[in-house]
Amino acid sequence: MTATMMDVPLTLDWIADRAERYMAGVEIVSRRPDKSLHRTSFGSVIQRAKRLARGLIAGGIKKGDRVATLMWNHAEHLEAYFGIPLAGATLHTLNLRLHPDEISYIARDAGDRWLIVDESLHQYCDKLTYKFEKVIVVGRDYEQFIESCPAEGPLPVLDERGELGMCYTSGTTGKPKGVVYSHRSTILHSLVAALPDSLDLRRTDTLLPVVPMFHVNAWGLPFIAAMVGTKLVMPGPHLDPPSLLELLQNEKVTVAAGVPTIWIGIRDLLDKQKYNLQPGLRMIVGGSAAPEQLIRDFDRHDMYLLHAWGMTETSPIGSISRLPPELAKLDEATRYRMRAKQGLPPPLVDLRVRNEAGDVPHDDTTSGEVLIRGPWIAGSYVGGHSPERWTSDGFFRTGDVARVDAYGFVQLTDRIADLIKSGGEWIASAALEHALMGHPCVREAAVIGVAHPKWSERPLAAVVLKEGKQCTAEDLRAHLQGKFAKFWVPDAFVFVEAIPRTSAGKFKKTALREQFKDWKWT
Ligand code: ADP
Repeated sequence: MTATMMDVPLTLDWIADRAERYMAGVEIVSRRPDKSLHRTSFGSVIQRAKRLARGLIAGGIKKGDRVATLMWNHAEHLEAYFGIPLAGATLHTLNLRLHPDEISYIARDAGDRWLIVDESLHQYCDKLTYKFEKVIVVGRDYEQFIESCPAEGPLPVLDERGELGMCYTSGTTGKPKGVVYSHRSTILHSLVAALPDSLDLRRTDTLLPVVPMFHVNAWGLPFIAAMVGTKLVMPGPHLDPPSLLELLQNEKVTVAAGVPTIWIGIRDLLDKQKYNLQPGLRMIVGGSAAPEQLIRDFDRHDMYLLHAWGMTETSPIGSISRLPPELAKLDEATRYRMRAKQGLPPPLVDLRVRNEAGDVPHDDTTSGEVLIRGPWIAGSYVGGHSPERWTSDGFFRTGDVARVDAYGFVQLTDRIADLIKSGGEWIASAALEHALMGHPCVREAAVIGVAHPKWSERPLAAVVLKEGKQCTAEDLRAHLQGKFAKFWVPDAFVFVEAIPRTSAGKFKKTALREQFKDWKWT
């Protein structure tokens, strides 16, 4: 070795210590279940996280042990985010929207030892068949536990390749699978995600993660916030549009993050009621595609939707749609079209779109599967499940289908599992959904393939209309004609009250397919 630099491990204690030393006064605001606001600071959160770490160790938690959380977004969850990894243990964020049997399966698969749970979710624990060694309840015995933990004392030396946290995939295809993040992957992800051309987070920002801390670590935002020193506003269990808008307004939030369905609700309320928001408020949107219309609608309100793509397996930032200067000069229609794409991978991520013929040409037409590789991309699942998800040259197969344009911008057209096969040809359901959600009467649309005696499958669109708006299947058909090949246009448009949601707030197409499995084509 000839390099003369120090070999310093990339571990979370560097971020925690710096936040404690220099960001101590940065505020953390949490909404309690009774809607009151609780205020603390990074200084206090990190100190308490360190106490928690010492308490875990004193209680017998060892390096590599898994400690689960079942909580909403709030300061105590943030303490667990730091306290558990600082003890050398693994932060396992359980998804409170899952069925108790699924949670039990996941906790057993991970071998979770302790659980920290919100009081409001505690009754849920009785329904779990999995028994944790110890359960600490926030709102009941958590404060007492923290007070009983040593206020001083050394913490373990961390290994950068050791486990920091883990999440399970939602199990859209098969059983949920575990992904374990290392200290190193988390630090590198935080550094790159914060860059100006990535999420652009700064100390002057106030950040409201609507995305739950049990959904891919709230996209890594708690770690990024501590790294750069942004004020955090945590919504607790209150994720309805009026509660969120009140927080955005009163706490002078400059950046928020969540899935499109959250922003659809916010847009609808903003169209009816005036709020005094920060000019240029940015909303990071991902988890499913941001409809172009939504991006346009928020521009009207002087709010900027920033579209990003990722997965549990990618920590999650895999691509971001930020217009480079040469594109920012193009006409309005092109700019919106580009912003609705999933964009470019950030530094250190190698993203390819590949089909049987190899990497696709950048012709905006040829499609293939998105493959990805990098220091915060999963190289395997816990237990070695589904090894076929990795290519022989070391890429993770995402299961997403996309094409690439001349600027290298990736545009997802569908998930492989959601593609509709009609008469031997593929129809991309996501593209149809986007177009439908661009219709002025349509609030939400999901398109699924339904078995057909002649064509094997034909598309059916489930549509939710905007309040007070009327339109017919014929109107929607006319809206799609000319934009797509004739055979792409759905044969049926069904108007529904709501589209079922997954535990992460995305459209749950498996439930829709189940609902329409006996559909009779006329
Ligand atoms: P699941 O959707 O199964 O709950 P994840 O939360 O890990 O699992 O979601 C990953 C998937 O979400 C991606 O593979 C992709 O299909 C979809 N997704 C995420 N972000 C976007 C986006 N910006 N546009 C379109 N699809 C997205």
